Formats: sequence, structure tokens, C-alpha cells
Amino acid sequence: MVCISKMSAAKTDNEVTPLHGERVTSQRLLILRIIREGEGHMDAEELYRRATEEDPRISLSTIYRNLRLFKRIGLVEERYLGEGHHHYELRRPTQHHHLVCLGCGRVIEFECPQTEQMREDVAKANDFEITDTEVYFAGYCSSCRKKRG
Ligand SMILES: [Zn+2]
Ligand SMILES: [Zn+2]
Repeated sequence: MVCISKMSAAKTDNEVTPLHGERVTSQRLLILRIIREGEGHMDAEELYRRATEEDPRISLSTIYRNLRLFKRIGLVEERYLGEGHHHYELRRPTQHHHLVCLGCGRVIEFECPQTEQMREDVAKANDFEITDTEVYFAGYCSSCRKKRG
């Protein structure tokens, strides 16, 4: 027992993320690693493509099943960034929002304290407990605007 707590205390951010009692499988670790390395904002298809490069036995339904699991235990957040895609990223302690480029698909993150304030105000005004906020702005990034002239 002592051994186990020592080990988990020594874990760094880059090491295995605890799966909250769920079975740790190599496929689960692979999917989490790809989400981490992919700088977030990958949709399930892209995740699937990258995962099969490393493990050809992985199926798209395995990807979806595990994404649902990661979401349920709070490891991963699902973001709705337009175009009918759900993007996935590791949950982080600070709230952030997204700019989505319609030209190249780039996703830029930003933090905005005003949305925190808005959330509080709206919750108070409507006596509503808000558990999730999704803000994204769609448009064109600077390099796409240059290309368009
Ligand atoms: Zn762009
Ligand atoms: Zn993000």
C-alpha cells in the first residue's frame, strides 16, 4: 500500500493519467496520449486516423466508446466548434474559449474573464446553476486573410 501511494505521488504530468478506477488498457493510454500530444481539438475521425497508425487493431467504435468514458470521468472535454464536429481535449483547470478559422480549420484558444462574469450574472438573474459554458467565434485567421487578399 505504501508503495502504491509513493508511486502515485511521484507521477508527473506526462505519465499515466489515473483512470478513476477504470481498467487501464494500452488502447486507452494510446488514445489519451494522442489527445494530449495533438494540442487538443481533434475530432474522433482524426483521433482514429492517428491511433490506427500506432495500433491498427483499434476501431472507430473503440475510439467513441473511450471518448465517452473519458468524458464521464472528467478527463476529457467535448467541444462543439461548429461544422458539426465534436472536438476533444484534455480537461484543464482554467476556462478557455475558441476561435475557429473557417479557412484552414485552425483552432486558437483564448481566455476571457468577461465570460466568467457573464456566466455569474446570467446564473444569478435566472436562478440557474450553470455547469458548462461553450463560447466560440468563427472567422478567418491572419494567414487565411492574407491568402484571400
Ligand atoms: Zn486560417
Ligand atoms: Zn481548447
